[in-house]
Amino acid sequence: MSAHLMSLNTATVREQMSLRQCIDACARFGIAGISPWRDGVAAMGVDKAARAIRDAGLAVSGLCRGGMFTAGVGAAGRQAALDDNRRAIDEAAALGASCLVMVCGGLAPDSKDLSVARARVQDGLMAILPHARAAGVPLALEPLHPMTCADRSVLSTLGQALDLCDALGEGAGVALDVYHVWWDPDLSAQIRRAGTRILAFHVCDWLMPTTDTVFDRGMPGDGVIEIRAIHDQVTAAGYRGLTEVEILSHAWWTRDADHVIATCIDRVAAYC
Ligand code: ZN
Repeated sequence: MSAHLMSLNTATVREQMSLRQCIDACARFGIAGISPWRDGVAAMGVDKAARAIRDAGLAVSGLCRGGMFTAGVGAAGRQAALDDNRRAIDEAAALGASCLVMVCGGLAPDSKDLSVARARVQDGLMAILPHARAAGVPLALEPLHPMTCADRSVLSTLGQALDLCDALGEGAGVALDVYHVWWDPDLSAQIRRAGTRILAFHVCDWLMPTTDTVFDRGMPGDGVIEIRAIHDQVTAAGYRGLTEVEILSHAWWTRDADHVIATCIDRVAAYC
């Protein structure tokens, strides 16, 4: 695969580069797309970021991120989450993002009840879906590895995410991140089931041993995930979007940004 089919998730170089610098680097390296994070967009200003991305000719493979429906306490906390998600949808629309990536939230701070947390996630998604549909921004539900169930996402498997999509209907799909789903014995069947509801495809690798379950992601090829096999299944299911490289890594954050990006391009070509 070539750089034209790659998107750079800006978290990959978040310690080295501003969003402005990421946009310039993508253009310089001939990368097709970018997936910014909201803090970087806010720092630059939404309109300015949207213009710069457009001027650089980049596709926006997703905006990171909405969700976190379970984070607040009480009615006010829930309302704050919904308001913030609607703002995220507006930002995604302004950027022309192909989806808003949803990290749905872990256990509620006041409850150990997983079913309560999952119900709050579903209610939150239902509540913002009309706004997303009106804005033309699909919600990409990203199942996260179950190790993050307590603090980040009670949505753990692709099958679970697709059950939610079935309940939500139009305007909901999934973001498939190999780091989170590679271990799932049901992955191939669920990718087939997802079909064109796959809205984003994120790659990195699972290092062995891993030193941090969130911030020790590997460069494709450095770990144990059969990325190309998953990529081929995703393509066979009908996904035609970009392959987004998303590496949250204390190790890669200490390296020269141009070196990191050049390595991403080489590895995507070799392993995706
Ligand atoms: Zn991801």
